[in-house]
Amino acid sequence: MSELGLLQVYTGDGKGKTTAALGLSLRAVGHGLRVLFLQFLKNDATYGECLAKAHLPNFDLVPVGRNELVDFKHPDPIDIELVRAGWDKAVEAIRSGNYDLVVLDELTLVLAFDLLPLQPVLSFLAQPHRGTEVVVTGRYAPDELIEMADLVTEMTDIKHYFRKGIDSRDGIDH
Ligand code: ATP
Ligand code: MG
Repeated sequence: MSELGLLQVYTGDGKGKTTAALGLSLRAVGHGLRVLFLQFLKNDATYGECLAKAHLPNFDLVPVGRNELVDFKHPDPIDIELVRAGWDKAVEAIRSGNYDLVVLDELTLVLAFDLLPLQPVLSFLAQPHRGTEVVVTGRYAPDELIEMADLVTEMTDIKHYFRKGIDSRDGIDH
């Protein structure tokens, strides 16, 4: 088996980025791999993935945001602080070798809205992280991240039931 340690990016404006990362996590857990799923910009224990973690060994899902919408144009200092602490946690986890898969969910939004300085994040992700596969999700992935990644998938928004007036549903959208 080839070693883990690649960088994957799931981006684009269609639905399915976080869902894809969760699907990959499920597959990894099935093989006994240790997964850390860091959820930037949200903290909602009613999400299905949060509820599922009690049933999945080796699936550490850690919200590193708060249960408030982030105002990207005028971010609250608390949100910036939480994002920085989340990034520190990501760095520590990737360096530690304690995880086979680390998902940085919505990190691209954090970067797109300058909640973290871009260059240090890119430099860190560009370093080899042998043994730990890293997945970054979210809209507006920066070009440099796309260039350095080993796999990039873009979800295309062809249709979404939201535009028919169908709201967010338990187990499907959250
Ligand atoms: P999901 O978490 O469902 O995989 P995602 O990670 O691709 O979605 P995000 O940008 O993180 O998408 O947005 C999360 C929420 O917004 C989900 O409830 C999702 O259904 C909804 N959503 C995603 N894409 C669209 C879209 N193109 N139009 C309307 N709502 C969307
Ligand atoms: Mg998402």
